[in-house]
Amino acid sequence: MRPGEYNKIDLVKGEERMDIDTIAAISTPLGEGAIGIVRISGPEAINIIDQIFQSPSRKKLQEVASHTIHYGHIYDSKEQKTIEEVMVSVMRAPKTFTREDVVEINCHGGLLSVNQVLQLVLTHGARLAEPGEFTKRAFLNGRIDLSQAEAIMDLIRAKTDKAMTNAIGQLEGRLSKKIKRLRQELLEVLAQVEVNIDYPEYDDVEEMTHKLFKEKALYVKSEIEKLLETAKQGKILREGIKTVIIGRPNVGKSSLLNSFVHENKAIVTDIPGTTRDVIEEYVNIRGVPLKLIDTAGIRDTQDVIEKIGVERSRQVLQEADLILFLLNNNEPLTEEDMQLFDTIEDMDAIIVVNKVDLPQKIDLNEVERKACGRKIVKISVKDDKGIEELETMISNMYMSGNLEADDLTYVSNARHIGLLNQALQSINDALDGIGMEVPIDIVQIDMTKTWELLGEIIGESVHDELINKLFSQFCLGK
Ligand code: GDP
Repeated sequence: MRPGEYNKIDLVKGEERMDIDTIAAISTPLGEGAIGIVRISGPEAINIIDQIFQSPSRKKLQEVASHTIHYGHIYDSKEQKTIEEVMVSVMRAPKTFTREDVVEINCHGGLLSVNQVLQLVLTHGARLAEPGEFTKRAFLNGRIDLSQAEAIMDLIRAKTDKAMTNAIGQLEGRLSKKIKRLRQELLEVLAQVEVNIDYPEYDDVEEMTHKLFKEKALYVKSEIEKLLETAKQGKILREGIKTVIIGRPNVGKSSLLNSFVHENKAIVTDIPGTTRDVIEEYVNIRGVPLKLIDTAGIRDTQDVIEKIGVERSRQVLQEADLILFLLNNNEPLTEEDMQLFDTIEDMDAIIVVNKVDLPQKIDLNEVERKACGRKIVKISVKDDKGIEELETMISNMYMSGNLEADDLTYVSNARHIGLLNQALQSINDALDGIGMEVPIDIVQIDMTKTWELLGEIIGESVHDELINKLFSQFCLGK
């Protein structure tokens, strides 16, 4: 590689865009929304709408200005009937989400009429879009990079305001910018080393190159580590803290769960089905999403069905991020309480002493001893006492200082974390090499690998297969 040549490998890899067809899908959630939107994207988008749209002034949408919205009706000329009263937005390439011509038909009726409009669009030459295909086009046309595309997916799934802020930050390209800067730094040093190797003006070129490499590698390493540090909190924002409430029968587990859910309004509720013995609820505790898991069977081992429940519950315990262990203030500790203390020995837990509205019969010193330094909080679900303190405790555990700072970039995506870890590994390999003074072209290989791995995060060296897989995870119409 000669100086100046390195730019060639920095090219964004895109698919050959040939024979682009026009795609369409319903872009709003299926259900009884007030409006449903059919979105069309591609070279034929405006042509297609003109065949089925009638405006009171009879104007053709081919002739209207870009980024304008028009009132009219969708008309099925074959059946000779009006299907829907609509507002149609016309947006011409390239200033659109996909960078293609985009038409959005805002329908007012229910699901049935939105579907009829879509059917009509499809019979006039559009193809039903695959899940994520609009976003995929935006990516392939260079409108967004891969981490931004993934942010769109996060945005759709965001469960709290903070998770949403994070996704928006990523969508704006904050992570991409950071990664791009790191790659640029690596590229510069790689180019510089090329120059040093090809045109050695000084005798100590090896030594100088090592020094240069080392400086840069240490810097890149620390930046990658910083990004990885945000990953834990990013994951929390994205997926919620898996929280399990345990305790023997009647200590108030369901009551506490209900109190959380009512006070903080559940975001998602999974209705327990026949094959499920675990109920999950998402609640928002001061910006921290808790995924509350109510275990059906941690208590009873009476019959076989319940035993399956117990097994599953233990499994759930193993996977939990946080355990809320409930005790009854009004009863002495039992053998079962002790066993539960043993079960959760090494886990992150808060010991919750419930029913403090009733006379104290529990030995709090013993509780303290068994808690092994973990936090203890006294509450009464009945009188709504101590719940706030419990919530503060939870939010302090996970919202340590810097998570509040909105300007931080959180790495929250498992694929990004995996790639960052690999990049860290290869930069460490490079540093090891430098330490052992191996020939500089060997070190160069590890540095280049780091550069490539970072590139994969933003999609600058990913394969088509990965792209297809990623975009297929989107919902239809996005
Ligand atoms: P679970 O079996 O652990 O899920 O316990 P429940 O939530 O079903 O509660 C068992 C009983 O304790 C119910 O009658 C609740 O009303 C009662 N209970 C729950 N929390 C409190 C509390 O803080 N004080 C009092 N006095 N009773 C409570």
